[in-house]
Amino acid sequence: MSDFEKAVEFVHDALRGLKENGVELRASAASLDQLMSTRSAVVETASSTAQKPPVEPPKPVAVTPQISGSADGRSNAERLAEIRGPILACTKCPHLVKSRTQVVFGVGNPDAELVFVGEAPGEDEDIKGEPFVGKAGELLTKIIIAMNFQREDIYIANVLKCRPDMPAGESGNRKPRPEEMQTCLPYLRKQIEIIRPRAIVALGATAMIGLTGDASPMGKLRGRWHEFAGIPLMATYHPAYLLRNQSLTEKRKVWEDMLMVLGKLGHPISEKQRGFFLPKT
Ligand code: URA
Repeated sequence: MSDFEKAVEFVHDALRGLKENGVELRASAASLDQLMSTRSAVVETASSTAQKPPVEPPKPVAVTPQISGSADGRSNAERLAEIRGPILACTKCPHLVKSRTQVVFGVGNPDAELVFVGEAPGEDEDIKGEPFVGKAGELLTKIIIAMNFQREDIYIANVLKCRPDMPAGESGNRKPRPEEMQTCLPYLRKQIEIIRPRAIVALGATAMIGLTGDASPMGKLRGRWHEFAGIPLMATYHPAYLLRNQSLTEKRKVWEDMLMVLGKLGHPISEKQRGFFLPKT
C-alpha cells in the first residue's frame, strides 16, 4: 500500500470511528456515507496516478494589471463611446445649440494618466470638432511633448463643450459663462470618472471656475494642488495667455507647474527638463 493509500485509509477509519461514537461532524451523515462508499474509487485513482510520470507544476501566468475597464468588463474606450452620442446631441443650452457647428466631446487616450481641461472650444475647435487645435492648441502640444508625452498619450477636453456664441456681427471667441459651464460640467465629470486619470491640469482661471467654482486669480491658484472628483488637480495659465505674454518668467511658471505634475505621476525628470525656461547665466 502506498503512503497516499495509507493516508486515505487512516482518514476514513478516523471518520468512521467518530461517526460510530456519535460525534457530530460538520458533514451530514449522508455525505459521510457517500464519502466512505467512494473510498475504493479514491484509492484506485490514487494508485493509478502513482504510476504516471510526475505532472509538471503549472507555469506562472503573467498577470497584466487592469489599466482600463469597469466592474462590468467594458473598456474605458467603450464607456466613453457610450456617452459620446448623447453628449453630441445635447440641447441643454438652446442658444449654443443654435450657434454651434458641433459639440466638441474631447480627444485622446481613454486610459490616460493625465487629462488637460480647457474652458471651451474656439472657432477652430468648433469647426474641427476637436479641442485645442488652434494656435493655443499648438502650444499645448509643445508643452505635452516637452513633458515627454505624445498628444495621443493624454486626454484633452473642455468644461463647456460648445463654442460660446458671439453677438451678431462680432468675431473671435468669448469666455464661457459660469452657468453655461455648470450646465455642461456633468459631462466632463463623467468622462473623468471613466478615465480615472492620476492628475488633471486646468488650463486657465476660467477652467478653474468651471471645475471648482474658485474664482481666485491664476497667480494664487497655480503651483499647488487642488482636487476634482478626488483626483489631484493642478491649475496653470492657459496657453493663449502664454501666446499673449511671451516672457520667460511666465513660461517658466507654467513649466514649473508641469514639473509638479510629472513629479505627481512619478515620471523621471531630466536635468535638461528641469532647466527649461530658466534665464541663461
Ligand atoms: N481654448 C480652450 O480653452 N479650449 C479649446 O479647446 C481651445 C482653446
